[in-house]
Amino acid sequence: MTDPTRSAALDLLISVLDRGRPLEEALDALPPTEARDRAAAHRLAAAVLRRMGALDAVMEPFLKKRPPVVVVHILRLGAAALLLLDTPAHAAVATAVELTRARRLDPFAGLVNAVLRKVAAAGVATLEECDGPRLDTPGWLWAAWGADARAIASAHTQEAPIDLTLMPGAVAPEGGVALPSGSWRYPAGTRVTELAGFAEGQFWVQDAAAALPARMLAAQPGERIADLCAAPGGKTAQLIAAGAQVVAVERDANRIARLRGNLARLHLGAEIVQDDATQWRPPELLDGVLLDAPCSATGTIRRHPDVLHLKRPSDIGALNAAQDALIKAACDMLRSGGRLVYAVCSLQPQEGPARIAAALKRLPLRTVPVQAADLGLPPAAITAQGWLRTTPAMWPELGGMDGFFAARLERL
Ligand code: SAM
Repeated sequence: MTDPTRSAALDLLISVLDRGRPLEEALDALPPTEARDRAAAHRLAAAVLRRMGALDAVMEPFLKKRPPVVVVHILRLGAAALLLLDTPAHAAVATAVELTRARRLDPFAGLVNAVLRKVAAAGVATLEECDGPRLDTPGWLWAAWGADARAIASAHTQEAPIDLTLMPGAVAPEGGVALPSGSWRYPAGTRVTELAGFAEGQFWVQDAAAALPARMLAAQPGERIADLCAAPGGKTAQLIAAGAQVVAVERDANRIARLRGNLARLHLGAEIVQDDATQWRPPELLDGVLLDAPCSATGTIRRHPDVLHLKRPSDIGALNAAQDALIKAACDMLRSGGRLVYAVCSLQPQEGPARIAAALKRLPLRTVPVQAADLGLPPAAITAQGWLRTTPAMWPELGGMDGFFAARLERL
């Protein structure tokens, strides 16, 4: 019998690496399986995507010539099980051989067996001896991250913890640690739906860094605020919980459904508009806009390691045009003195500081600097201009945080 986890993990790798599909989408497309198998397949496929450069380097000396790509994926899954997930050697090798046969690749079963036995014998030390952070990171990302590249890529080798934002007055579920920025942190792999208070809507999942842009906007009770590009709604929830009158604008129908579902669980109400935020305009000018723009998502590689394999340098230019158009629209929605927070979960300077520098030249906006201490952050998280720039290498002793850029601006 083929191991359902390993088989599903192989399907996930084929979807992401050979068909260019995002991992989340590939997960949704898996045939119905036990939730436990699905979670295990996700974890295994994510481990391969995260450490693929290093895993390939470890196996290279044992491969005289490269077998078909499906066989390479089976080897990667086997090597990840052995070296990253502590699967006992006999089980990791036997499962890979069975899977090779199940996929009608019998002629390669011997090769899979031989290579994985050698990987098992070489042990975890071989993985540690190679320059993992560099091997796991595409050159264009490494170059764009500059002096921070090694620290960021090293942080990507670890699974991210789970962070929660609590409803005002809610008690944190057991097992968490309070972070200096106000979020609560739980170990990687925590089953959130099983935590006390989930069904009652006492919290939502949101990386500690992702919770910062709404805190920077500091919405006041009764203020009229638009949340542009709102789904799945983590920031919308923060703005409503702060007492603002929120309109959430999102153009994707499927994502609107997720936004509605999330707000319903939290018993939070907002006006929800399905529209392109570059075209939509409020009936009257607003006190604030939170613009969490579409981006390359390179700040979330710890949670979405498929980003390493799917994004291309050419994607950034198209995103920049969309980001500029959204900033212009957001500015047009504000009253004089109204606040705009522009945020992206990206580590790429062209999506963050470069967009704001361009906007400040052509739009009636000025920066309202933020202070590290006000957000409970290390000073390095704030740039000389007073903009937020977090990376996964920050808070190393607490388990890092996603990479985010955010700027607080005021309409002149
Ligand atoms: N703010 C969300 C949160 O905190 O949960 C995450 C937003 S995600 C980074 C970007 C979202 O923007 C996606 O849901 C995408 O469908 C939406 N989007 C992209 N371009 C848009 C546009 N022009 N108008 C409205 N929504 C857009």
